Amino acid sequence: MNSSGFTFRRVREEMIETLLELGIKDFRVLDAISQVPRHIFVDEALWSRAYENRSLTIGYKQTISQPYIVARMTELLISHTNGRGKVFEDLLEIGSGCGYQSAVLSFFSERVDSIERIKPLVQKSRENLAHLKISNILFKYGDGYQDWDKDKKYDGILCAAAPRAYPHDLIDLLKNDAKLVIPVGGSEQKLNVILKAKEDEIKEQEYEDVSFVPMLAGKSDDGNDV
Ligand code: SAH
Repeated sequence: MNSSGFTFRRVREEMIETLLELGIKDFRVLDAISQVPRHIFVDEALWSRAYENRSLTIGYKQTISQPYIVARMTELLISHTNGRGKVFEDLLEIGSGCGYQSAVLSFFSERVDSIERIKPLVQKSRENLAHLKISNILFKYGDGYQDWDKDKKYDGILCAAAPRAYPHDLIDLLKNDAKLVIPVGGSEQKLNVILKAKEDEIKEQEYEDVSFVPMLAGKSDDGNDV
């Protein structure tokens, strides 16, 4: 472990304790989160707060998600699977941000495709994940409403930005028995899980209140349209 990782060991342990207290139960998720150094995803000026359970700015009017919400969404995404390690072949993430959630997802899937609409953040994610030597994530600059590979099917989709209503097109990208985990709403949002049980059978479930940035259409070279 490098020296900065070592320095943050105690606060990293405290973060895991906080997640346990907040009700995260899946040890596979806690284990993955404990292995991803969160401070490297934010500016050095924020390192002292990197292991608090809060979102932090990453520039371009966007934030790195709160550790609890990353843990919760991952837990919901994998809850119907058993066993350790990579329980999925392909996952899709919408809204890479700085790549923190992507890094956590990389523990659970052979491959992760991640789409981000703000170009400089795509570069940031690539650099962050290269730094961590995580190589099973493909970051793509695009609009998560439409710029996915239409012929590909996923074992799960995690969306980190909130549309007013969930895009039904995303359901077509799911394999059977796969889930879409997505915040839905405007000023009031709920975490939603949509399970594609069979080809024409979906089950929707609503979970807790959340607060995500809106899912915006189109892509942006500089984030100035946010
Ligand atoms: N989980 C991320 C933070 C996500 S913040 C992390 O760990 O860092 C939400 C991200 O969704 C922002 O970067 C925002 O630019 C992006 N976003 C919003 N609408 C989008 C869309 N239509 N397609 C792709 N990304 C989108």
